[in-house]
Amino acid sequence: MNCPLKTRENAQLLLDYCARKLEAEQVVTLERHIAGCGACREFAESQRAVWEALDGWEAAPVSTDFDRRLYRRIEEQAPWWSALFRPIALWRSLPAAAMVCLLVMAGVVLERSAVSPLPPPNGLAQVESVQPEQVERTLDAMEVLDQFSKHVRTDSPDSKL
Ligand SMILES: [Zn+2]
Repeated sequence: MNCPLKTRENAQLLLDYCARKLEAEQVVTLERHIAGCGACREFAESQRAVWEALDGWEAAPVSTDFDRRLYRRIEEQAPWWSALFRPIALWRSLPAAAMVCLLVMAGVVLERSAVSPLPPPNGLAQVESVQPEQVERTLDAMEVLDQFSKHVRTDSPDSKL
């Protein structure tokens, strides 16, 4: 056979041989060639070493707190305010800030429109009519208190005697 390292289709054959995918008949043919071809022997040995390493390799189990430790390390390396200067953070925070501004403006406008119109004349009259009543009630209450305190003052000497 032609040297597998010199033709494309036979090169695939050599790779399949190293990956142990070949039929027994093809293996015999190829091994016969490899026995007489230094380049192919070298290639096959290096491939075998790779495959043996892959066979023996096992991924280390991921620790349960891997995510927590990863994020803590990220936080330790980047100060919190640096997020403000990242384009993505800005892009995300801008709509929220704009929304807050809009809400505040809407609140101010609504408040002003509710307050700015002058109260109707009858409302003013109501306010004026309520005030004397309140004053009267307060005066009544003060009078009662005054009488009560006078009563107590006049009673107290009798109670002591
Ligand atoms: Zn060869």
